[in-house]
Amino acid sequence: MRDYYEVLGVDRSASLEEIKRAYRKLALQYHPDRNPNNKEAEARFKEIAEAYAVLSDPEKRRRYDRYGHAGLREGGTASGASPFEDLNDIFSAFHDIFGASGAVFEEVFTGQRRARRRESGRAGGDVHVKVALTLEEIAEGTEKEIPVRKYVACQACGGSGAEGGVAGYTTCPTCHGTGELRQVSRSIFGQFINIQTCPHCRGEGRVLRNRCAACGGSGRQMAEVTVRVTIPPGAVAGHYLTLQGAGHAGINGGPAGDLIVEIEELPHEHFVREGLDIYYDLFLSFPDAALGTEVEVPTLRGRARLQIEPGIQSGKILRMRGRGLPELNSSRRGDQLVRVHVWTPTELTENERRILEQLRHSPSFQPRLEGERKSFFSRVKDAFR
Ligand SMILES: [Zn+2]
Ligand SMILES: [Zn+2]
Repeated sequence: MRDYYEVLGVDRSASLEEIKRAYRKLALQYHPDRNPNNKEAEARFKEIAEAYAVLSDPEKRRRYDRYGHAGLREGGTASGASPFEDLNDIFSAFHDIFGASGAVFEEVFTGQRRARRRESGRAGGDVHVKVALTLEEIAEGTEKEIPVRKYVACQACGGSGAEGGVAGYTTCPTCHGTGELRQVSRSIFGQFINIQTCPHCRGEGRVLRNRCAACGGSGRQMAEVTVRVTIPPGAVAGHYLTLQGAGHAGINGGPAGDLIVEIEELPHEHFVREGLDIYYDLFLSFPDAALGTEVEVPTLRGRARLQIEPGIQSGKILRMRGRGLPELNSSRRGDQLVRVHVWTPTELTENERRILEQLRHSPSFQPRLEGERKSFFSRVKDAFR
């Protein structure tokens, strides 16, 4: 048997980080997916994995440093035998060791190995969070940093739940590593084979020998993390965004759940939303309404000037096209609707009262309801169409 340090090509004083780096590089190089039907590469790969399993475990490394290969024979490992049952164990170890950073390997692994990764462990749950947006943020789209409390992979064991990586696992004694139980029954119709997922190991084919003390064997721990979420323009309150794989970390290296972000809308100081349109209430003085003017109104993109025709009536709705909210995944945009209110003065000075008294009976100040009322209602209908 070769010296483990030699196998990984590291110094005897190498840090865990250096050992990890060396392992990662060599494991990728000799991975069977990259070296199909190459017995030599497969042997190297096993050797590398074994060296890593020992040197990455502080207790095993200490024993190995003191007694060499002989130091590892006590305590579980059969004399001289590799701690791995077969190649598949090594692949599981692979994922356990790298945990979240296993993504590097996902690119290298072909479908077969990937499928195995999904089988191992149990899926993490989804995490629901709410994010409150202003109308401006909805209009333009935004990026939000959301604090999320969720399970993440345990740092101590890399998400495997086992003390010392793969060596913390042993083949399931109930199913002998197959992950399933077969029951053969005979009847007059012939032989039936009933296959059931092994309840002991939940189909994983292996069980924990040494639980990670930090996470109690689940491979994950609660943490407060910040998730960056990109919200597209046009989100609507009650909409959900799903970030795949950003939910709770899986149990024992299982796949992560999703992060589900619910959109909430904050009330706006000026606007009321109605679908894609937004409403704004504009109050005009009586002289401005009678004489016409130009006013400044707030919009979702800063202030804009708005022309007021002389003789505008209270209740008139002015449409500012394209100043509303965008529709999600579309180029359509709503309008900003400005509702005109003519403000009636409530307190008057002597002088103002005298001027208004002079105007009171002037013919142009008499309401002409006939035509006005009709057009007023048709305008309201038009605005709501
Ligand atoms: Zn089992
Ligand atoms: Zn742990």
